[in-house]
Amino acid sequence: MSVANTSKKMSRQEVVDYFNEGIKEAEAFLFLARSSDLQHEQCLKLDALIHNVANAKQIAITNQDEDLANLFLGFECTIGAIHSELMMYILLKRDEANAAWDCLVAAQMGVLDAMRAHKGFAHCSERLAQLEQLERLLFPSQVFLSAGFLSTGLECSICGQPTSKCDHLRGRPYMGQLCEFKYHQPRVHHVAQVKVPADKRCRVVSFKTVEGHKDRISWKVAPYKNGESYTKNDSLEVSTIFLSLQRFPYMTPTGRVLVPTASSRTKEKP
Ligand SMILES: [Zn+2]
Repeated sequence: MSVANTSKKMSRQEVVDYFNEGIKEAEAFLFLARSSDLQHEQCLKLDALIHNVANAKQIAITNQDEDLANLFLGFECTIGAIHSELMMYILLKRDEANAAWDCLVAAQMGVLDAMRAHKGFAHCSERLAQLEQLERLLFPSQVFLSAGFLSTGLECSICGQPTSKCDHLRGRPYMGQLCEFKYHQPRVHHVAQVKVPADKRCRVVSFKTVEGHKDRISWKVAPYKNGESYTKNDSLEVSTIFLSLQRFPYMTPTGRVLVPTASSRTKEKP
């Protein structure tokens, strides 16, 4: 079913009901114990659903219906969040814990953005609390980082002007789009360890031990490569991520996250 072709005949409520049906169907798979194959199937269905929401949003934008465009933006974020959570479960069962972490964070970002997009998604705060609970249940606690940047200017994503020259507010929705500030030529000024980070993807990924780099989530040790060594002293050498450029990671399609692994290929083709 394509909303783009049929929305002229469907009422606003019918379109909303259609998207809610797709969400409800996928929500039944938001458990670690559900079949990975069925979860993957749902992910592909959600790819198609997001595509339909984007088409519906485009029609609302053409009609200059800002409330409806923002409502569909909220649906994009909500569906993206469910899609990311499903992929998190699949990745955990594949033993890809770091990629699963990124999906969990993407799901949390999607829920937050849905709440920003339209008042109809205000109830999602409960969902966000559940995702934060999942974070504590499924993953060990993380060491988060926050980087300070210097840049030659800040640009508004809505109008493209310097942020000092427009009235758009960061994080607010405008005609189906969330306002973001884009840095011009960003340079890292400092990196600090923080308890509550702005971006949970920014964290200590691994630290050096006698045997090699120890992953902070999986606890697996990657042996040192040529030229690398461990020096025993008071300092702790770590690998970190302190900048993640993808602002809407929950919009990434299934095929770009669930890349077939050697073991999953063997499983598919015995
Ligand atoms: Zn602006």
